[in-house]
Amino acid sequence: MINVAIDGPAGAGKSTIAKAAAKKLGFIYIDTGALYRTVGVNALRRGVNMESNEEIAATLTDTLNVELKFIDSQQRMFLNGEDVSEEIRTPEASMAASRVSAVPAVRAYLFDLQRNIAKENNCLMDGRDIGTVVLPDAQVKIFLTASAEVRAKRRYNELTQKGIQCGYDDVLSDMIKRDYDDSHRAIAPLKPAEDSVTVDTSNFTLEQSVEAVIKTIEDKINV
Ligand code: C5P
Repeated sequence: MINVAIDGPAGAGKSTIAKAAAKKLGFIYIDTGALYRTVGVNALRRGVNMESNEEIAATLTDTLNVELKFIDSQQRMFLNGEDVSEEIRTPEASMAASRVSAVPAVRAYLFDLQRNIAKENNCLMDGRDIGTVVLPDAQVKIFLTASAEVRAKRRYNELTQKGIQCGYDDVLSDMIKRDYDDSHRAIAPLKPAEDSVTVDTSNFTLEQSVEAVIKTIEDKINV
């Protein structure tokens, strides 16, 4: 199977770009952030103390069921049978995802799920630690990034278009905090894999970003 790992900070355009590139290559696209978001939403619903690793780890019970399904070729997330694909996109869910993702038990819980999909499919998987931890043998590894201001602007536009109320300054400060937490955590911190190619999309349009990613993949695997 051909596996492409795309890592990078929030708002770098990973999902939009990876989705477009996967379509062009005929691969499936897996958004791993959605898995952490689903675990985060579950923790929020359970009302646990989000500062406590123990309380977050205790939400990973035998009865917790996190499922990733493809419906009309779209990835949908299910929490105990309920479709939470929209709920996981709120700013609260973003912060909860970042929080739970620093808990080792949560990363261990989601590891096999990610590995098994990659084992069975030609796929493009995006996240924070795909090239470094989840798929260290991926044939192509891309670190997709952009400046914090550009990423916050994109995320702000995305949220307001979906009708989610927010202010640009809050989006920017959340993003800076999330970047800091993601790259300074003890376990699986966000960092480029040694053998990754960095693509900075700060000055690229969406089309140029997709082209740059596809070219990087094609150069490596000669499709
Ligand atoms: O990519 P997205 O913004 O949806 O991810 C939400 C959060 O999940 C990130 O801020 C990060 O903390 C966490 N995450 C992670 N490892 C991944 C994907 C996401 O830690 N592979």
